[in-house]
Amino acid sequence: MAKPTDKAELGINTTLTHAGNDPRDFHGFVNPPVVHASTVLFPDAKTMASNKQKYTYGTHGTPTTDALAAAINALEGSAGTMIVPSGLAAVTIPLLAFLKPGDHLLVVDSIYFPTRRFCNTMLSDLGVETTYYDPAVGAGIEALMKPNTKVVFTESPGSNTYEIQDIPAISEIAHKHGAVVMMDNTWATPLYFKALDFGVDITINAATKYTSGHSDVLLGLVSATAEHWKTLLTAQTNLGVCANSDDCYLVLRGLRTMGVRLSHHQHAALGLAKDLQGKAGVAKVLHPALPDFPGHDLWKRDFKGSSGLFSIVLDGGDKDHWVAKAHAFLDALQIFGLGYSWGGFESLAVLVSLKDRTIIPPPSEGPVIRLQIGLEDREDLMDDIERGLAAANAVS
Ligand SMILES: *Cc1c(COP(=O)(O)O)cnc(C)c1O
Repeated sequence: MAKPTDKAELGINTTLTHAGNDPRDFHGFVNPPVVHASTVLFPDAKTMASNKQKYTYGTHGTPTTDALAAAINALEGSAGTMIVPSGLAAVTIPLLAFLKPGDHLLVVDSIYFPTRRFCNTMLSDLGVETTYYDPAVGAGIEALMKPNTKVVFTESPGSNTYEIQDIPAISEIAHKHGAVVMMDNTWATPLYFKALDFGVDITINAATKYTSGHSDVLLGLVSATAEHWKTLLTAQTNLGVCANSDDCYLVLRGLRTMGVRLSHHQHAALGLAKDLQGKAGVAKVLHPALPDFPGHDLWKRDFKGSSGLFSIVLDGGDKDHWVAKAHAFLDALQIFGLGYSWGGFESLAVLVSLKDRTIIPPPSEGPVIRLQIGLEDREDLMDDIERGLAAANAVS
């Protein structure tokens, strides 16, 4: 029988279950071994000199890291996947790989804040100029392209406010001008948006979030088309940034259940988002799968699903009360934890700052609370949010 992953037409959960390692490579054990490695031995001097042995040193990969990379390539349809120690490293290393002094970079304004920080500090110091663009730009990005624009960096939906970008339109213009398109696809994951099929050249996934799924590991994945894979791999080799087998094992373990987890996250989050529309104290719900959300048509055209992260805008009233209302909401929560990151099994809430935005104004109605909907029962989460809203509404 052929390995199930050899067939392209398999369903996503079958791929998630079987991609990566072949149990027959390791005596039939279902999971790959966790190989701890720096040194790899060679049988003789000739083999050592030949550079032909599959594994040569721990920084270049192990059977465990390879199993994860192969599984991700099967999901993304990519030629290669680079594994790095965090989601942020999965953003910064491709930028370093494809940019040099004198280059120009376009970055969406609704970007994950640490990506902006990297562009405005280290890339700026290296002589790379960044221009931020409106997430609704679409083909209008052509007006922003300069002769030295080498990379267009997208993130869709945008961080915390979920603006949807027209990725095919942006990619087409970028390619016409010889620029590489990168996308931070952490929110949708390759399950709900297969970025390389939409013109993206390099797709980034903070595996810390849904892929690992258990809030206990940090990891970043960068997957590239054949045309761009070598540049990425060369940069990783030059920088010496690699991930360890223990973390890769945990992420591969998380990957097996990612489909069923995401399905739960999706239904619970969308159900809550719908129920929260029009509730006393909620000015707006920011979720791209809601029909009246501004980017909804694009989301519907391109995405196969929505994940478990969305935001609510509280009825802020007088601006002087925004922080007090937001804090009252957060402090009244009993099930949602107050903490950063998302994609784990447990629900989280955070007051987000949108002060870094330079093009798109933050919502004017009130403070923005980001909710990560975990695997708890939805009714319990709704009760918790109602507790938060009651506390916020009591602040005047
Ligand atoms: C969390 C996150 C990252 C970074 O991941 P870490 O593993 O926490 O460094 C990158 N991009 C987006 C959109 C994220 O939400």
